[in-house]
Amino acid sequence: MSATCPQCSAPDQSVAVPHALAPTAQPPLDEAARAQLVPPPAPQPGRLRLNGGTITFYALTGVLTLLAVLSLFGNHDADLDGAEPAYVAGYLIGPFLFPLLFLLIAVVLHAVSRKGQHRRLAETLPAQQALWQRHHFVWQSAWLCRRCRVAFFPAAALRPDVAASPPIPLDQFPLWVVTASDRTYGFPTPPVAPN
Ligand SMILES: [Zn+2]
Repeated sequence: MSATCPQCSAPDQSVAVPHALAPTAQPPLDEAARAQLVPPPAPQPGRLRLNGGTITFYALTGVLTLLAVLSLFGNHDADLDGAEPAYVAGYLIGPFLFPLLFLLIAVVLHAVSRKGQHRRLAETLPAQQALWQRHHFVWQSAWLCRRCRVAFFPAAALRPDVAASPPIPLDQFPLWVVTASDRTYGFPTPPVAPN
């Protein structure tokens, strides 16, 4: 199949964009054109983040643990002289109870937060993938004229009733893919995944 370039009105230098990018394409595409014609990037799952409450409790755990360790190095002779072993144990272990409590709270908060973030990511990713598939289909339908260094969409390439596009300068091609997809298929942009 060939397609007529809307700028030079000839089909002899036209090549479908995926074929133009193929490693075996002859002549090979230069890097500048290749960078403008790369396919739209697939959506990546968002990164999970620690929330503020979790960070606070982890930080408190660290500070109180440090204070508890430092307290062990003090002089405790006056307090512990002749004390029962159980009292001595409680005296020494006591300062670590609060850090332990804060650590438990931090772990629980962390687990709850991760679960919520996983759920929100799972909810938004399918919509982002559907959008990406439409962008990818539009990208696949584009052609390049190697003589004019313009991209274009032949008539009916995107949908039977869609007319041919004008010549598209390569630096405008990525934006064209997105806007042509929105205009042709009219799908709303899905919500952005939480980070
Ligand atoms: Zn041309």
